Amino acid sequence: MRIAIDGPAGAGKSTVAKILAKKLGFTYLDTGAMYRAVTVLFLENNLSLADENGIKRLLENADIKIIPGDEGQKILLNERDVTDLIRTPQVSELVAKVSALPEVREYLTELQRKIIAKGNVVADGRDIGTVVMPEAEVKIFLTASAEERARRRHRELLARGYEVSYEEVFREVLKRDELDTTREISPLRKAEDAILVDTTGLKIEEVVAKLLEIIGRKQDVL
Ligand code: C5P
Repeated sequence: MRIAIDGPAGAGKSTVAKILAKKLGFTYLDTGAMYRAVTVLFLENNLSLADENGIKRLLENADIKIIPGDEGQKILLNERDVTDLIRTPQVSELVAKVSALPEVREYLTELQRKIIAKGNVVADGRDIGTVVMPEAEVKIFLTASAEERARRRHRELLARGYEVSYEEVFREVLKRDELDTTREISPLRKAEDAILVDTTGLKIEEVVAKLLEIIGRKQDVL
């Protein structure tokens, strides 16, 4: 069974996808982490978004691995652990621009399909139900109000020791929503057959219960 969870930043996708994957014994695929890893390469190489040859070379030499583990997954970039590095505010600020590049999307979509082909999976991102695995048996579009999503991101960043204001995070969330929904290739949108779940005001356990119910109903008819 393939489960696709799409939605905007801060909707709770990765938190619930991780829990679901563990409960179901499925592989968890965090596609946002892959776009973030490529963004780390852009920053470290000081690569311009317009440098087509540079981007080609960068992707040819990139080796991104997702290693599942009890503490969550690890992201290896050319054999280096970048699990924490991909969550810095600098990466969050640039990632939506990097992920709008056609070469980057093509490269990562192919990589994601290879991982998905291996078996039962819960994948989260922006274009999973629409582009990466449109044939997924379960498609969820997870969302929440922009204020609540920014509050969650803000809490997360403070907990990790970043001194950012709520207003800054709110602006960043809105900017990313705008870039993700208006880009030309694979924009963030709900697949027609995806089930919309609004997580505003819901606890994580409540969201997980809702999704398990949706998955259970689907399993019954398969
Ligand atoms: O999920 P997360 O917030 O870590 O994703 C970071 C960024 O990666 C998103 O804002 C989006 O620009 C990009 N992304 C994407 N397609 C995906 C997953 C993430 O374009 N499937």
